[in-house]
Amino acid sequence: MGRPCPMTDACPFFEKEVPGNSRAVDILRRRYCQPGGAGCARKLVRDTLGKEFVPDDMFPNDDLWAQAILEAQFRKRA
Ligand code: SF4
Repeated sequence: MGRPCPMTDACPFFEKEVPGNSRAVDILRRRYCQPGGAGCARKLVRDTLGKEFVPDDMFPNDDLWAQAILEAQFRKRA
């Protein structure tokens, strides 16, 4: 079944960008942060490059932004 994201209780996106418990926040948390959730763009960047590369305002579904960050860093390191 898997585990929830380890950042669930301290994710800057929820703490700074969308604080509170609106219905939209609840949907995002259930879709991305719970066991078996969809792939999170924030988590992908964090796991690949480190938390300092994750913009606070990146949405969990912002796959294109995550891809651009990863590609830019890989180009720099090539
Ligand atoms: S938004 Fe992404 S990084 Fe933040 S807690 Fe949810 S799954 Fe983890």
